[in-house]
Amino acid sequence: MVDGFEWNNWLPIKVNIFGWRVTLNRLPTRNNLARRSVSIPCLNCPLCGEASESVEHLFTSCFVAASLWHMVSVWCKIRTIVAFEVKDLMHVHRYGSLNAVKRKLIQTIILLSCWCLWKAKNDLLFSNKQVSIPKILEEVKAREDEREFSYEKASGKGPEEWGKIHKEWSTCNNGKMQSPIDLSNYRVDVVHKPKKLLRNYKPCNAILINRGHDVEVQWEGHAGSIEINGTIYSLKQAHWHSPSEHTINSKRYSLELHMVHKSIDPTSKHQIAVIGVLYKLGKPNPFLSKLGRNITSLVKQDNEHRHPGVIDPREIRMSCRRYYNYIGSLTVPPCTEGVIWTISKKVRTVSLEQVQLLREAVHDHAAKNSRPLQPDHKRDIQLISP
Ligand SMILES: [Zn+2]
Ligand SMILES: [Zn+2]
Repeated sequence: MVDGFEWNNWLPIKVNIFGWRVTLNRLPTRNNLARRSVSIPCLNCPLCGEASESVEHLFTSCFVAASLWHMVSVWCKIRTIVAFEVKDLMHVHRYGSLNAVKRKLIQTIILLSCWCLWKAKNDLLFSNKQVSIPKILEEVKAREDEREFSYEKASGKGPEEWGKIHKEWSTCNNGKMQSPIDLSNYRVDVVHKPKKLLRNYKPCNAILINRGHDVEVQWEGHAGSIEINGTIYSLKQAHWHSPSEHTINSKRYSLELHMVHKSIDPTSKHQIAVIGVLYKLGKPNPFLSKLGRNITSLVKQDNEHRHPGVIDPREIRMSCRRYYNYIGSLTVPPCTEGVIWTISKKVRTVSLEQVQLLREAVHDHAAKNSRPLQPDHKRDIQLISP
């Protein structure tokens, strides 16, 4: 489409729908409300009071919009945006010699700017909040920043780029003990140990958070712990990746759950321990079924959280008789190394609907949230078996 609205998969659905309504002149501005015979005492733009509030005026000729576009241009180091019509705004990213990633970034920023401008206008109208143009720009920057990293290769913030986004994230690119890795039979040393992994979980209050790139259960108190080589690691949170991040004999499964634990001893060599469980498609996973309604209500709402109440970590059923063990890293930035990985060998089941629900709930709109396999650099991988 040449003149229509270009969907932007870096942004939440609601921002896209908003941009589409701007393009089609379907926002409830005073002008549009009056045309629909809604009685409006004053048609003037609440920002400048000088012209009637139409979509065109609000986003192009109003002095607030003009100043915002000037500041956005300076920030993005592009030619000053001059827009006479909304169409001009929606096409800014197509002009000039920008590469594909920069073009998409400009489109993202323009849409976010329109969104924040509209929000500022409503805050003035309904909450009498003073409008500050630098504040609008601050909000645009903050929202752009939320998209800190991505799983999409062509996003400019994809897994290959993580180590370059922030200095503190350089391990993502330079590390020698990164996760995930493939757990292949020929690579593992089988260790016979009759003792199971020691787990001591208990029910505890939790919140469910949409972190944008995943859905996370965060326990608010003491949800119990595991013990590895005499060190106690207490359970902090659990989240999901789809498809799985680790592969077994090169096979990638549909879903992977991570239970993240932190050492209670700040001096211990390994501070983080993660238990991973892989799932293939099949019968629904009872733990996700229980959380289902809360996850559904997270769908399409970013930065939202829910209070499902008490969540019992023991309901995440897993077999800890046979499991893989290796030292790796977090699979999201900052990709911190020295993480003790324990991956249950038994692959459990999850329904397709459950995998899809988790995918829909996150607002980054990406098709997956799993990091590609990392080189194993001849690390020791053990398969603990009774
Ligand atoms: Zn105005
Ligand atoms: Zn994870």
